Amino acid sequence: MKTYTILLVLLCLSCKQNSYTQIKDNMKSANNTEQQWKEQLTPEEYYVLRQKGTERPFSGTYNDFYEEGIYVCAGCGSQIFESDHKFDGHCGWPSFDRAIKESVLYVKDVSHGMQRTEVICANCKGHLGHVFEDGPRDTTGNRYCMNSVSMKFIPKKDADK
Ligand SMILES: [Zn+2]
Repeated sequence: MKTYTILLVLLCLSCKQNSYTQIKDNMKSANNTEQQWKEQLTPEEYYVLRQKGTERPFSGTYNDFYEEGIYVCAGCGSQIFESDHKFDGHCGWPSFDRAIKESVLYVKDVSHGMQRTEVICANCKGHLGHVFEDGPRDTTGNRYCMNSVSMKFIPKKDADK
């Protein structure tokens, strides 16, 4: 019984190690060609990250999700948001009042007859969402309105490794 438990723990540890290593390897993907992105991403990820699509409101994995950890770019694994800065924006998409310093870039977006500020990953330039100035007044006043599909969540206990 004891041996079995130890084996199980070891197996579990090696799984986590693999997923962490995989995210680190993804940092190399910043120079991917469009073809490589197509192969690496799911069709939904490709549509949002590379073609600047938007997932349907209230449909994303992280819309109503408040666990402690770090959100990384689904394209390259770069750390972009912390759970401490996530709030309920009541808009149907995961909302944050700030991004991790220097992790994102801002692009003026005048598509769909609107003037918006697009937020992209500073490393792989993948589309993450938009930032609006109607966020919490008591912190930054900004609302980073993100697509769940553009991000991957890493629980705090794994991110600390
Ligand atoms: Zn990225």
